[in-house]
Amino acid sequence: MKNDYDVLIAGSGVAGLYAALNFAPDVRVLVLAKKELTLCNSFLAQGGVAAVVDKENDDFRLHVADTLIAGGYKNDLRSLEILVNEGPEDVLRLAKEMGVDFDRDPQHHISMTLEGGHSRRRILHHKDSTGREITEKLLAAAQSRPNITFMDHAQLMNLIPAGGGFWAELLVAEQPKVLSCSYCVLCTGGIGRVYPYTTNSAIATGDGITLAYELGARIKNLHLVQFHPTAFAAAHGRERFLISEAVRGEGAMLLNCHKERFMQNYDERGELAPRDVVSRCIMQEAARTGSEEFYLDIRFRGETFIKNRFPMIYERCLEEGVDITKDLIPVFPCQHYLMGGIDVNVYGDTTVDRLYAAGECSHTGVHGLNRLASNSLLEALVFARRTTYDISRRMRHEVSEVVGPRPEMSTEGQEMHPGHRTAIRQIMQKAWFVTPDYDAAREGLTQAEAILEDLRSGGYALTTDWVEAKSLATVCTIILRELLEEQEKKARETGRE
Ligand SMILES: Cc1cc2nc3c(=O)[nH]c(=O)nc-3n(C[C@H](O)[C@H](O)[C@H](O)COP(=O)(O)OP(=O)(O)OC[C@H]3O[C@@H](n4cnc5c(N)ncnc54)[C@H](O)[C@@H]3O)c2cc1C
Repeated sequence: MKNDYDVLIAGSGVAGLYAALNFAPDVRVLVLAKKELTLCNSFLAQGGVAAVVDKENDDFRLHVADTLIAGGYKNDLRSLEILVNEGPEDVLRLAKEMGVDFDRDPQHHISMTLEGGHSRRRILHHKDSTGREITEKLLAAAQSRPNITFMDHAQLMNLIPAGGGFWAELLVAEQPKVLSCSYCVLCTGGIGRVYPYTTNSAIATGDGITLAYELGARIKNLHLVQFHPTAFAAAHGRERFLISEAVRGEGAMLLNCHKERFMQNYDERGELAPRDVVSRCIMQEAARTGSEEFYLDIRFRGETFIKNRFPMIYERCLEEGVDITKDLIPVFPCQHYLMGGIDVNVYGDTTVDRLYAAGECSHTGVHGLNRLASNSLLEALVFARRTTYDISRRMRHEVSEVVGPRPEMSTEGQEMHPGHRTAIRQIMQKAWFVTPDYDAAREGLTQAEAILEDLRSGGYALTTDWVEAKSLATVCTIILRELLEEQEKKARETGRE
């Protein structure tokens, strides 16, 4: 008997939607979203997507070089060359086939902005809400395809390998549901919610990474977490609104508590140094001045420019009582992005048969130690498309039928012990925020392992809350273990010198 679906895609962000759209019309695709279809990091992306589309003023080699510099030369060169060479076609396809409305100059050429670490203006954007524009257009295109089915409030919580495919265990609006699929592509996004403050949306709890890890997939470089230097320093709320890098790209100055510029004292690239550098400089400056007060100043660009170029940031700051045409914007670093994830080859294939991953939950190696601004939407597009090549190739000559009876899912159990998620977030903030604290990581790992053990063996009821708490605890233990292994490796290397 045929499986319920040929391909199950967990995630309705840019990676999941673009993967779905790249399958042929006869492939039966199911796209899951844990909450609403548009609640994802893709929707929040502001600055834009980087691509060498202006070949007169830019060059593939420069984009590769900029990405290598930001990534500390630890990038996977093969994946990076694929990203840079193939990316422009995917990005232009968004405009030509999906109707994505990139900003244009008066001559109707796509206008490009600059962001930290880029040596050329190569960021295509839609004002300051590029992610929303792309996600909405991809969603509309995918919803018009008869071969693509959507299921929202549907959390994938387990995959059981069963011969030619998987049994997929879901919670749909907290109700158990089991279905079969031939292949699965995890596009479940990042892990921001493992920190107390993050720019990430509520779905970013690392579910896909945990699921892949539990299946035995190789997870790589999960400790490579990016902290964005300029999140809005709100007095309340876990989700921090981002003041896009493009604001500095358009000339905004970063000021300390004395309202003085300071970046030039640390790095010759000033405000446009890569994110990890700017975040570290802020923490050093905070230690020097004894104050965590920092500001961005874009006022000199004038009201008309600011309101036209950054309408969303303008409105959002106004809601917080800050008029960015007249006031300084209070900012501070917070968790933003994950460079590591489920290790994949250049076709998104993981080390588990029939399991693929794309987007922020995957590790393609393109970013190295630190992602260059606006390279992640590009990575999501390029490698999501490439997963469909490999799956489509396999579909032509593989028999895909799950074996054995459809598993029964039980949601019975006791109520989860409260406080685990808060404890995990505190552990992470103490152990690894901008610069690692290895003593706190050692102590935190013991605590996080105990929490994870409790979650796994405590007989708790199967709820989305439990699944997310387990994901956060799993991600935390992997990150801290990797961090401590890195420290030991460095110590051994120093000892040998
Ligand atoms: C504020 C902000 C600004 C950014 N700006 C930029 C930018 O300008 N340029 C750039 O290149 N990048 C930017 N990024 C990063 C970029 O947006 C993300 O890396 C990228 O969009 C990730 O896409 P994705 O499809 O992998 O994941 P997401 O878009 O996060 O989608 C994840 C999907 O997985 C689903 N999901 C999760 N767990 C489960 C589960 N268990 N079961 C079922 N579904 C599940 C979610 O419901 C969601 O649909 C920004 C990120 C943030 C947070």
